[in-house]
Amino acid sequence: MSASAKNSPQGLSTRLAHAGRSPEAHDGFVNPPVVHASTVLFPDTETMITGKQKYHYARRGNPTTDSLEDALCELEGATGVKLASSGLNAISVALLSCLSAGDHLLVTDSAYAPTRHLCETTLRRLGIEVDYFDPTIGAGISALFRPNTRAIMTEAPGSLTFEMQDIPAIVAAARTIDAFVLMDNTWATPCFFRPLDHGVDLSIQAGTKYIVGHSDAMLGTVAAGPRAWDRLNETHGALGMHVAPDDVFLGLRGLRTMKVRLDRHMESALTVASWLQQRPEVARVRYPALAGEPGHELWRRDFTGASGLFAFDFVEGTSDQAARAFLDALTLFGLGYSWGGFESLAIPVRLKGARSATPLPEGGPSIRLHIGLEDVADIQTDLEAGFAAMGG
Ligand SMILES: *Cc1c(COP(=O)(O)O)cnc(C)c1O
Repeated sequence: MSASAKNSPQGLSTRLAHAGRSPEAHDGFVNPPVVHASTVLFPDTETMITGKQKYHYARRGNPTTDSLEDALCELEGATGVKLASSGLNAISVALLSCLSAGDHLLVTDSAYAPTRHLCETTLRRLGIEVDYFDPTIGAGISALFRPNTRAIMTEAPGSLTFEMQDIPAIVAAARTIDAFVLMDNTWATPCFFRPLDHGVDLSIQAGTKYIVGHSDAMLGTVAAGPRAWDRLNETHGALGMHVAPDDVFLGLRGLRTMKVRLDRHMESALTVASWLQQRPEVARVRYPALAGEPGHELWRRDFTGASGLFAFDFVEGTSDQAARAFLDALTLFGLGYSWGGFESLAIPVRLKGARSATPLPEGGPSIRLHIGLEDVADIQTDLEAGFAAMGG
Protein backbone atom coordinates (compact mmCIF):
# COMPACT_ATOMS: atom_id res chain seq x y z
CA MET A 1 0.00 0.00 0.00
CA SER A 2 0.98 3.62 -0.39
CA ALA A 3 3.35 5.47 1.88
CA SER A 4 1.87 7.80 4.45
CA ALA A 5 0.68 10.98 2.79
CA LYS A 6 1.98 12.92 5.77
CA ASN A 7 5.50 12.33 4.48
CA SER A 8 4.55 13.15 0.91
CA PRO A 9 6.08 16.39 -0.37
CA GLN A 10 3.19 16.83 -2.79
CA GLY A 11 0.10 18.92 -2.24
CA LEU A 12 -3.35 17.49 -1.69
CA SER A 13 -4.74 18.34 -5.12
CA THR A 14 -1.69 16.78 -6.78
CA ARG A 15 -2.14 13.59 -4.81
CA LEU A 16 -5.87 13.49 -5.61
CA ALA A 17 -5.02 13.72 -9.30
CA HIS A 18 -2.45 10.92 -9.24
CA ALA A 19 -3.08 8.59 -6.28
CA GLY A 20 -3.99 4.98 -7.06
CA ARG A 21 -3.23 5.25 -10.78
CA SER A 22 -0.54 3.38 -12.69
CA PRO A 23 -1.09 4.01 -16.41
CA GLU A 24 2.01 1.95 -17.31
CA ALA A 25 0.22 -1.13 -15.95
CA HIS A 26 -2.72 -0.53 -18.33
CA ASP A 27 -1.05 0.20 -21.68
CA GLY A 28 -0.74 3.88 -20.81
CA PHE A 29 -4.42 4.63 -20.40
CA VAL A 30 -4.88 7.34 -17.78
CA ASN A 31 -7.56 5.50 -15.81
CA PRO A 32 -7.59 1.88 -14.63
CA PRO A 33 -9.94 -0.49 -16.47
CA VAL A 34 -13.40 -1.04 -15.00
CA VAL A 35 -13.11 -4.77 -14.34
CA HIS A 36 -16.42 -6.65 -14.43
CA ALA A 37 -15.56 -10.01 -12.97
CA SER A 38 -16.18 -12.93 -10.73
CA THR A 39 -13.89 -15.80 -11.78
CA VAL A 40 -10.14 -15.38 -12.05
CA LEU A 41 -8.29 -18.13 -13.98
CA PHE A 42 -5.05 -19.77 -12.84
CA PRO A 43 -2.44 -21.03 -15.33
CA ASP A 44 -2.01 -24.40 -13.58
CA THR A 45 -3.01 -26.42 -10.52
CA GLU A 46 0.21 -25.54 -8.69
CA THR A 47 -0.57 -21.79 -8.85
CA MET A 48 -4.18 -22.43 -7.88
CA ILE A 49 -3.30 -24.52 -4.83
CA THR A 50 -0.47 -22.34 -3.57
CA GLY A 51 -2.43 -19.15 -4.23
CA LYS A 52 0.69 -17.52 -5.70
CA GLN A 53 -1.19 -15.13 -7.92
CA LYS A 54 -2.28 -11.55 -7.21
CA TYR A 55 -6.02 -12.14 -7.64
CA HIS A 56 -8.01 -15.28 -6.78
CA TYR A 57 -11.65 -14.29 -6.91
CA ALA A 58 -13.24 -10.93 -7.66
CA ARG A 59 -15.13 -10.70 -4.37
CA ARG A 60 -11.79 -9.99 -2.68
CA GLY A 61 -10.74 -7.28 -5.10
CA ASN A 62 -9.70 -6.50 -8.64
CA PRO A 63 -7.61 -3.76 -10.32
CA THR A 64 -10.52 -1.29 -10.14
CA THR A 65 -11.16 -1.67 -6.41
CA ASP A 66 -7.40 -1.74 -5.72
CA SER A 67 -7.04 1.59 -7.45
CA LEU A 68 -9.60 3.34 -5.24
CA GLU A 69 -8.37 1.61 -2.07
CA ASP A 70 -4.77 2.60 -2.83
CA ALA A 71 -5.75 6.20 -3.53
CA LEU A 72 -7.71 6.44 -0.28
CA CYS A 73 -4.90 4.76 1.61
CA GLU A 74 -2.57 7.54 0.55
CA LEU A 75 -5.16 10.25 1.19
CA GLU A 76 -6.00 8.98 4.70
CA GLY A 77 -2.45 7.95 5.68
CA ALA A 78 -3.86 4.48 6.37
CA THR A 79 -2.42 1.01 6.85
CA GLY A 80 -5.25 -0.28 4.65
CA VAL A 81 -8.62 0.68 3.21
CA LYS A 82 -11.75 -1.37 2.47
CA LEU A 83 -14.74 -0.35 0.36
CA ALA A 84 -18.37 -0.82 1.31
CA SER A 85 -21.62 -0.62 -0.61
CA SER A 86 -22.82 2.47 1.30
CA GLY A 87 -21.72 4.75 4.09
CA LEU A 88 -23.91 2.84 6.52
CA ASN A 89 -22.36 -0.44 5.39
CA ALA A 90 -18.93 1.07 6.10
CA ILE A 91 -20.08 2.00 9.62
CA SER A 92 -21.46 -1.50 10.25
CA VAL A 93 -18.32 -3.35 9.10
CA ALA A 94 -16.12 -0.98 11.11
CA LEU A 95 -18.13 -1.55 14.30
CA LEU A 96 -18.36 -5.32 13.74
CA SER A 97 -14.58 -5.39 13.25
CA CYS A 98 -13.99 -4.14 16.79
CA LEU A 99 -16.80 -5.60 18.87
CA SER A 100 -17.70 -8.97 20.36
CA ALA A 101 -20.55 -10.19 22.55
CA GLY A 102 -20.26 -8.69 26.03
CA ASP A 103 -18.32 -5.63 24.89
CA HIS A 104 -19.38 -2.09 25.75
CA LEU A 105 -19.62 0.55 23.00
CA LEU A 106 -19.77 4.32 23.53
CA VAL A 107 -21.50 6.29 20.77
CA THR A 108 -21.75 10.05 20.34
CA ASP A 109 -25.29 11.26 20.96
CA SER A 110 -25.01 13.28 17.73
CA ALA A 111 -24.42 10.17 15.59
CA TYR A 112 -26.03 9.79 12.17
CA ALA A 113 -29.49 8.35 12.99
CA PRO A 114 -29.01 5.03 11.10
CA THR A 115 -25.81 4.48 13.14
CA ARG A 116 -27.93 4.68 16.28
CA HIS A 117 -30.46 2.30 14.72
CA LEU A 118 -27.71 -0.24 13.97
CA CYS A 119 -26.54 -0.02 17.59
CA GLU A 120 -30.05 -0.34 19.01
CA THR A 121 -30.98 -3.35 16.86
CA THR A 122 -28.25 -5.60 15.43
CA LEU A 123 -25.50 -4.74 17.89
CA ARG A 124 -27.73 -5.11 20.96
CA ARG A 125 -29.04 -8.40 19.55
CA LEU A 126 -25.44 -9.63 19.35
CA GLY A 127 -24.96 -8.88 23.05
CA ILE A 128 -23.12 -5.57 22.74
CA GLU A 129 -23.87 -2.94 25.41
CA VAL A 130 -24.32 0.58 24.06
CA ASP A 131 -24.23 3.94 25.83
CA TYR A 132 -24.44 7.41 24.28
CA PHE A 133 -22.33 10.39 25.29
CA ASP A 134 -22.51 14.17 25.01
CA PRO A 135 -20.54 15.03 21.85
CA THR A 136 -18.77 17.86 23.71
CA ILE A 137 -17.56 15.50 26.47
CA GLY A 138 -13.86 15.49 25.43
CA ALA A 139 -11.52 13.99 28.04
CA GLY A 140 -14.53 13.57 30.36
CA ILE A 141 -15.40 10.45 28.40
CA SER A 142 -13.23 8.40 30.76
CA ALA A 143 -15.95 8.76 33.41
CA LEU A 144 -18.16 6.54 31.20
CA PHE A 145 -15.60 3.76 30.80
CA ARG A 146 -16.48 0.32 32.10
CA PRO A 147 -14.19 -2.68 32.41
CA ASN A 148 -15.61 -3.99 29.10
CA THR A 149 -15.52 -0.73 27.08
CA ARG A 150 -14.03 -1.75 23.75
CA ALA A 151 -14.85 0.98 21.23
CA ILE A 152 -15.85 4.63 20.93
CA MET A 153 -17.83 5.83 17.91
CA THR A 154 -17.33 9.53 17.14
CA GLU A 155 -18.60 11.83 14.43
CA ALA A 156 -17.67 15.50 13.98
CA PRO A 157 -19.45 17.70 13.43
CA GLY A 158 -22.53 15.82 14.60
CA SER A 159 -25.38 14.91 12.25
CA LEU A 160 -28.04 17.64 12.07
CA THR A 161 -26.83 19.56 15.16
CA PHE A 162 -23.17 20.06 14.12
CA GLU A 163 -21.39 19.80 17.49
CA MET A 164 -17.63 19.47 17.20
CA GLN A 165 -15.78 16.79 19.18
CA ASP A 166 -12.36 16.91 20.80
CA ILE A 167 -11.05 13.87 18.93
CA PRO A 168 -7.46 14.00 20.28
CA ALA A 169 -8.76 14.12 23.88
CA ILE A 170 -11.09 11.16 23.25
CA VAL A 171 -8.26 9.21 21.60
CA ALA A 172 -5.96 9.90 24.56
CA ALA A 173 -8.60 8.63 26.99
CA ALA A 174 -9.33 5.55 24.85
CA ARG A 175 -5.63 4.61 24.79
CA THR A 176 -5.58 4.27 28.59
CA ILE A 177 -8.00 1.33 28.31
CA ASP A 178 -6.87 0.07 24.88
CA ALA A 179 -10.26 0.79 23.28
CA PHE A 180 -10.69 1.41 19.55
CA VAL A 181 -11.77 4.87 18.35
CA LEU A 182 -13.90 5.08 15.21
CA MET A 183 -14.83 8.29 13.46
CA ASP A 184 -17.49 9.04 10.88
CA ASN A 185 -15.54 11.70 8.95
CA THR A 186 -18.01 12.13 6.09
CA TRP A 187 -18.42 15.88 6.66
CA ALA A 188 -14.77 16.93 6.53
CA THR A 189 -13.43 14.13 4.32
CA PRO A 190 -9.68 13.47 4.63
CA CYS A 191 -9.17 16.66 2.59
CA PHE A 192 -10.01 18.73 5.66
CA PHE A 193 -9.32 16.32 8.56
CA ARG A 194 -7.24 13.15 8.67
CA PRO A 195 -8.54 11.10 11.63
CA LEU A 196 -5.72 8.53 11.56
CA ASP A 197 -3.12 11.30 12.07
CA HIS A 198 -4.92 12.07 15.34
CA GLY A 199 -4.84 8.47 16.58
CA VAL A 200 -8.28 7.34 15.39
CA ASP A 201 -8.21 3.62 14.49
CA LEU A 202 -10.98 3.47 11.88
CA SER A 203 -11.86 6.46 9.68
CA ILE A 204 -15.20 6.10 7.92
CA GLN A 205 -16.61 8.03 4.97
CA ALA A 206 -19.95 7.85 3.27
CA GLY A 207 -18.30 7.99 -0.16
CA THR A 208 -21.81 8.54 -1.46
CA LYS A 209 -21.34 12.18 -0.46
CA TYR A 210 -18.19 14.03 -1.51
CA ILE A 211 -16.10 11.22 -3.03
CA VAL A 212 -18.75 10.25 -5.59
CA GLY A 213 -19.91 13.87 -5.51
CA HIS A 214 -22.55 13.65 -8.25
CA SER A 215 -25.52 11.94 -6.54
CA ASP A 216 -25.25 8.97 -8.90
CA ALA A 217 -23.85 6.13 -6.80
CA MET A 218 -23.59 4.84 -3.23
CA LEU A 219 -20.26 3.98 -1.65
CA GLY A 220 -18.62 3.63 1.75
CA THR A 221 -14.98 3.59 2.77
CA VAL A 222 -13.14 2.50 5.91
CA ALA A 223 -9.50 3.43 6.42
CA ALA A 224 -7.70 1.57 9.19
CA GLY A 225 -4.63 2.41 11.22
CA PRO A 226 -2.17 -0.28 12.35
CA ARG A 227 -4.17 -1.40 15.40
CA ALA A 228 -7.36 -2.11 13.43
CA TRP A 229 -6.32 -3.10 9.92
CA ASP A 230 -6.15 -6.90 10.42
CA ARG A 231 -9.57 -6.95 12.07
CA LEU A 232 -11.13 -4.78 9.37
CA ASN A 233 -9.65 -6.83 6.54
CA GLU A 234 -10.74 -10.11 8.16
CA THR A 235 -14.29 -8.94 8.97
CA HIS A 236 -14.80 -7.35 5.54
CA GLY A 237 -13.77 -10.64 3.91
CA ALA A 238 -15.82 -12.82 6.24
CA LEU A 239 -18.95 -10.81 5.51
CA GLY A 240 -18.44 -11.15 1.77
CA MET A 241 -18.56 -7.44 1.13
CA HIS A 242 -18.05 -6.23 -2.42
CA VAL A 243 -18.73 -3.06 -4.42
CA ALA A 244 -19.69 -3.25 -8.09
CA PRO A 245 -16.96 -1.97 -10.44
CA ASP A 246 -19.08 0.74 -12.06
CA ASP A 247 -19.72 2.30 -8.66
CA VAL A 248 -16.03 2.08 -7.78
CA PHE A 249 -15.29 3.80 -11.09
CA LEU A 250 -17.68 6.62 -10.15
CA GLY A 251 -15.85 6.91 -6.83
CA LEU A 252 -12.50 7.13 -8.60
CA ARG A 253 -13.82 9.70 -11.04
CA GLY A 254 -15.26 11.83 -8.22
CA LEU A 255 -12.08 11.61 -6.15
CA ARG A 256 -10.01 13.43 -8.78
CA THR A 257 -12.04 16.64 -8.43
CA MET A 258 -12.97 16.34 -4.76
CA LYS A 259 -10.72 19.13 -3.46
CA VAL A 260 -11.76 21.57 -6.20
CA ARG A 261 -15.42 20.88 -5.43
CA LEU A 262 -14.92 21.05 -1.67
CA ASP A 263 -13.16 24.41 -1.91
CA ARG A 264 -16.13 25.81 -3.83
CA HIS A 265 -18.67 24.18 -1.47
CA MET A 266 -16.82 25.80 1.45
CA GLU A 267 -16.55 29.23 -0.13
CA SER A 268 -20.24 29.33 -1.03
CA ALA A 269 -21.36 27.79 2.27
CA LEU A 270 -19.41 30.41 4.24
CA THR A 271 -21.00 33.18 2.18
CA VAL A 272 -24.53 31.80 2.59
CA ALA A 273 -24.05 30.94 6.29
CA SER A 274 -22.79 34.45 7.13
CA TRP A 275 -25.64 35.96 5.15
CA LEU A 276 -28.17 33.80 7.01
CA GLN A 277 -26.74 34.98 10.34
CA GLN A 278 -27.87 38.51 9.42
CA ARG A 279 -31.44 37.48 8.54
CA PRO A 280 -34.09 38.50 11.11
CA GLU A 281 -35.86 35.12 10.66
CA VAL A 282 -32.72 33.20 11.77
CA ALA A 283 -31.63 32.66 15.38
CA ARG A 284 -28.51 30.58 14.83
CA VAL A 285 -26.45 29.02 12.05
CA ARG A 286 -24.92 25.67 13.01
CA TYR A 287 -21.66 25.69 11.04
CA PRO A 288 -18.40 25.20 12.97
CA ALA A 289 -16.50 27.27 10.39
CA LEU A 290 -18.30 30.40 11.66
CA ALA A 291 -16.51 32.38 14.36
CA GLY A 292 -18.57 32.42 17.53
CA GLU A 293 -20.15 29.00 16.97
CA PRO A 294 -19.54 26.70 19.98
CA GLY A 295 -17.31 24.25 18.09
CA HIS A 296 -15.37 26.89 16.17
CA GLU A 297 -12.17 26.75 18.26
CA LEU A 298 -11.93 22.94 17.94
CA TRP A 299 -12.64 23.20 14.23
CA ARG A 300 -9.90 25.80 13.81
CA ARG A 301 -7.42 23.78 15.85
CA ASP A 302 -7.97 20.43 14.10
CA PHE A 303 -9.59 20.92 10.69
CA THR A 304 -8.22 22.66 7.60
CA GLY A 305 -11.56 23.35 5.93
CA ALA A 306 -15.33 22.94 6.03
CA SER A 307 -17.72 21.30 3.63
CA GLY A 308 -21.01 22.63 2.29
CA LEU A 309 -23.35 21.19 4.91
CA PHE A 310 -24.82 23.13 7.84
CA ALA A 311 -28.11 23.85 9.57
CA PHE A 312 -29.85 26.98 10.76
CA ASP A 313 -32.52 27.50 13.40
CA PHE A 314 -35.42 29.87 12.87
CA VAL A 315 -36.11 32.34 15.68
CA GLU A 316 -38.19 31.09 18.59
CA GLY A 317 -41.90 31.30 17.90
CA THR A 318 -41.55 30.36 14.21
CA SER A 319 -44.24 27.79 13.45
CA ASP A 320 -43.58 24.43 11.77
CA GLN A 321 -46.05 25.60 9.15
CA ALA A 322 -43.89 28.65 8.34
CA ALA A 323 -40.79 26.45 8.14
CA ARG A 324 -42.62 24.17 5.70
CA ALA A 325 -43.69 27.16 3.62
CA PHE A 326 -40.02 28.20 3.47
CA LEU A 327 -38.99 24.74 2.19
CA ASP A 328 -41.85 24.42 -0.26
CA ALA A 329 -41.02 27.78 -1.85
CA LEU A 330 -37.47 26.69 -2.75
CA THR A 331 -36.97 25.82 -6.41
CA LEU A 332 -33.18 25.56 -6.76
CA PHE A 333 -32.77 23.58 -3.55
CA GLY A 334 -34.16 20.08 -3.85
CA LEU A 335 -35.94 18.44 -0.93
CA GLY A 336 -33.99 15.25 -0.57
CA TYR A 337 -31.81 13.11 1.67
CA SER A 338 -28.10 12.63 1.31
CA TRP A 339 -25.76 15.46 0.30
CA GLY A 340 -22.28 16.01 -1.13
CA GLY A 341 -23.42 16.14 -4.75
CA PHE A 342 -23.08 19.17 -7.01
CA GLU A 343 -26.59 20.39 -6.22
CA SER A 344 -28.11 22.29 -3.33
CA LEU A 345 -30.45 20.37 -1.00
CA ALA A 346 -32.64 21.16 2.00
CA ILE A 347 -34.38 19.06 4.66
CA PRO A 348 -36.34 19.86 7.82
CA VAL A 349 -34.33 18.75 10.88
CA ARG A 350 -36.30 16.20 12.88
CA LEU A 351 -34.52 15.03 16.02
CA LYS A 352 -37.28 13.22 17.90
CA GLY A 353 -35.85 9.94 19.18
CA ALA A 354 -32.39 10.78 17.81
CA ARG A 355 -30.90 12.04 21.09
CA SER A 356 -30.82 10.28 24.45
CA ALA A 357 -27.79 11.63 26.39
CA THR A 358 -28.30 15.32 25.68
CA PRO A 359 -31.42 17.53 25.59
CA LEU A 360 -33.02 18.32 22.23
CA PRO A 361 -32.24 21.89 21.14
CA GLU A 362 -34.92 24.41 22.09
CA GLY A 363 -36.14 27.28 19.97
CA GLY A 364 -37.54 27.52 16.47
CA PRO A 365 -37.57 24.80 13.82
CA SER A 366 -34.28 23.93 12.13
CA ILE A 367 -33.40 23.40 8.47
CA ARG A 368 -30.34 21.57 7.11
CA LEU A 369 -28.86 22.93 3.90
CA HIS A 370 -26.33 21.48 1.52
CA ILE A 371 -24.79 24.32 -0.45
CA GLY A 372 -24.10 23.03 -3.94
CA LEU A 373 -21.94 24.28 -6.79
CA GLU A 374 -24.51 26.67 -8.27
CA ASP A 375 -23.77 30.41 -8.39
CA VAL A 376 -24.05 31.72 -4.86
CA ALA A 377 -26.24 34.67 -5.93
CA ASP A 378 -28.83 32.22 -7.28
CA ILE A 379 -28.66 30.19 -4.06
CA GLN A 380 -29.38 33.32 -2.04
CA THR A 381 -32.21 34.38 -4.35
CA ASP A 382 -33.81 30.98 -3.80
CA LEU A 383 -33.50 31.25 -0.02
CA GLU A 384 -34.95 34.77 -0.15
CA ALA A 385 -38.01 33.34 -1.91
CA GLY A 386 -38.28 30.85 0.94
CA PHE A 387 -38.21 33.59 3.59
CA ALA A 388 -40.75 35.61 1.61
CA ALA A 389 -43.15 32.66 1.60
CA MET A 390 -43.16 32.34 5.39
CA GLY A 391 -45.88 34.91 5.85
CA GLY A 392 -45.09 37.65 8.35
C1 LIG B 1 -25.19 9.91 4.59
C2 LIG B 1 -24.36 9.61 5.79
C3 LIG B 1 -23.99 8.30 6.07
C4 LIG B 1 -24.50 7.12 5.31
O1 LIG B 1 -24.11 7.08 3.99
P1 LIG B 1 -24.97 6.22 2.93
O2 LIG B 1 -24.04 6.08 1.79
O3 LIG B 1 -26.18 7.03 2.64
O4 LIG B 1 -25.28 4.92 3.59
C5 LIG B 1 -23.16 8.10 7.16
N1 LIG B 1 -22.73 9.11 7.92
C6 LIG B 1 -23.08 10.38 7.68
C7 LIG B 1 -22.57 11.45 8.56
C8 LIG B 1 -23.91 10.67 6.61
O5 LIG B 1 -24.29 11.93 6.40
